[in-house]
Formats: sequence, structure tokens, C-alpha cells
Amino acid sequence: MNGNERHTLEIHGLEAAVEGKQILFGVDLTVSSGEVHAVMGPNGAGKSTLSAVIMGKPGYEVLGGSVTLDGEDLLAMPTWQRAAAGLHLIMQYPTEVPGVMLDDVLAEALVARGRSANGLEALLRAEAARIGLNPDLLHRALNVDLSGGEKKRNETLQLAVLAPKIAILDELDSGLDIDALRDCARRVEAASNAGLGVLAITHYSRLFEELRPDVVHILVRGRVVASGGPELADELERDGYAKYQPAEAPEAKSGRSGLDDLFAL
Ligand code: ADP
Ligand code: MG
Repeated sequence: MNGNERHTLEIHGLEAAVEGKQILFGVDLTVSSGEVHAVMGPNGAGKSTLSAVIMGKPGYEVLGGSVTLDGEDLLAMPTWQRAAAGLHLIMQYPTEVPGVMLDDVLAEALVARGRSANGLEALLRAEAARIGLNPDLLHRALNVDLSGGEKKRNETLQLAVLAPKIAILDELDSGLDIDALRDCARRVEAASNAGLGVLAITHYSRLFEELRPDVVHILVRGRVVASGGPELADELERDGYAKYQPAEAPEAKSGRSGLDDLFAL
């Protein structure tokens, strides 16, 4: 992340399916360096699907549209290449990876990005202190036996060390107590002030007490149904999503529909 460079993640008309069922119905979003875009929506709206498709998680089928980073087609790349290109995802439920040490992973990731791992130990210690993570966890297997709060602090620390161009946070706030949420959100806010572009997915606006969104988008049934300023998040907190729930499910391009959709929300 370099404050002088401007990078842009562009999502156009993105349509995607999981297990033959269409979940995204044409999503448009553009996130540039230094911007924080919030994507809010009820359970089952397709928020995690959106993050998974952008990052290239297996099992998701792209039915249409495009995702580019600085004009480069991300959908054509395997996940590791998307990460090396400067995209970083913090998953809603971070994966435990037995036998793989956090510091080794980060050293390899830096080298894969053409950067040096020299000084990594000092940087890790500084970031651990900053995010409130016990430094003993730096040399432990990735996320194994960590509490919800420790996992998200750990993931946020990785984000800070790797300094990607664009970060996608899928419910950074889920499974976090108030202190951990504040520490993680603050760290991401600082990164965004230093040039990181952020797509922050959540359904509660409490994340935004520390991580200030420039734009808030509302995702319902796989479509962005409204976009606006931070006041939109306050409105949702007050009134919920009822106003934005369409009566009918959108027409699917392929796969099942009907009863499945009744339970999608
Ligand atoms: P959100 O993150 O907004 O709560 P998701 O993207 O997780 O929503 O889910 C959207 C819809 O896709 C839901 O109906 C969910 O059941 C379905 N879905 C998501 N992932 C899978 C999967 N791996 N297999 C089957 N259905 C899935
Ligand atoms: Mg989700």
C-alpha cells in the first residue's frame, strides 16, 4: 500500500451461483484506494457469496459480469494470484490451518509479492502490540485454538503486514467482543487513511463507529438496491431492512428456484 498510488477494484454486473442456485443478480461496485465502502444486507442476501466470488473461492460459479483490479481480469486468476495482485479477504469465519505457522505464511506471502521478509519479526511484534494480540500467537499454527477475538485480531494483523491494495472484510465484527472490534476496526481505518481501499461487509453498523464508511450500499437478494452516505447505515440500524426487501425473488438465470428462495432470507 502506497499512499501515492491509486488502485481500483471494479465489479460490474456480477452474477453468480452456488450449488446451481443463483445468489448474485448483477452487482456493481467500485472501490478505490483510500475509500471505505460498506455493503450491508440481511442474512442470506449474498454478502459472503460476493466476497467469495471476488476472491475466487472454489464452489462458486460466475454466470456473468466482471471483476477487475486496475483493469486486470481477476476472475481469470486463481485465488493466490488475486492475492498476489493486491486483494485480501478477511473471512467471516477464519480457517484454522494446523501445522502452518503464521510467521512462515507471512514470510512466504511477502516474497510472493516481490517484497522482502527482512525485518518481519520486528514488524509482527509491533503490529501484535498495536492490535492487542499476544505475541506468543505469532509462532503458533494459523488460527488453531484461537478465540473468535484472537482470530480476527490475527487476521487484521496479517492485513496490516501484507498491506494489500484492496481489502474485503466479511463481517469483521462477527464473533468479536467490543474491545476486539474496536481494535480491529481502528487498525483497518488507519490502513485506509494510509491508502487501503476497503469493502466492508456487515449487517450491523457498530463496525462503523471506528471504521468510517464513505459510501454505504445495501445488498438484498443479490442486488445492490440502494447506495448512499454513512447516514444510510444509521437508517438501517433504526428501521431495519424491511423497506428494501423486494416482495418477489429475482428471476434466476439458471438452477433451482422456488421454495429455496422462500428461505433465502
Ligand atoms: P450472507 O453472507 O449475506 O448472509 P450468503 O452469501 O452466505 O449470505 O448466502 C446467500 C445464499 O446462498 C443463502 O441462501 C445461502 O444458503 C446460500 N449459500 C451460500 N453458500 C452456499 C453453499 N456453499 N452451498 C449452498 N448454498 C449456499
Ligand atoms: Mg455472510
